[in-house]
Amino acid sequence: MNDDIVIACTNLANRAGAAGFEIGHTGDDDEPAEDAKWYAVATYQGARIISDGHRSPTAAALGLAERLLTGATCRCTQPVTLSDGQPGCRWRLVGQRWEPSCDAAPVRVPGGRRGDMAAIQHAMAQVPPGGNRASRRAAKRRRR
Ligand SMILES: [Zn+2]
Repeated sequence: MNDDIVIACTNLANRAGAAGFEIGHTGDDDEPAEDAKWYAVATYQGARIISDGHRSPTAAALGLAERLLTGATCRCTQPVTLSDGQPGCRWRLVGQRWEPSCDAAPVRVPGGRRGDMAAIQHAMAQVPPGGNRASRRAAKRRRR
């Protein structure tokens, strides 16, 4: 098990607004460990994004991260891509975090309960093209 990949997936699910995250495996405890199939799941209100049938928790976590990122829109309003050959905002696994290649400010979901996909989509729709740069500058000033 690669801790970095599992932690990065937990963190990503949290940042993606999921209400819950779980990693586990099928089968009984008396089955041989190598027969277990691992899954990782992020839960939203009324929805689950799952990656299952994996040989290890690392593979399950990586699979779920790819599912969360594929087809997603970055906070800079570009589509997320995991491949250099595709247009969009390139995300990479950096240590224990999935990081975008842009520096747009994180999107806040006002009043949204965790896992509220509609609130998340509404908040994303308010983001200007290229992302929230004004608040990014403000955040940098605060850090100095
Ligand atoms: Zn981006």
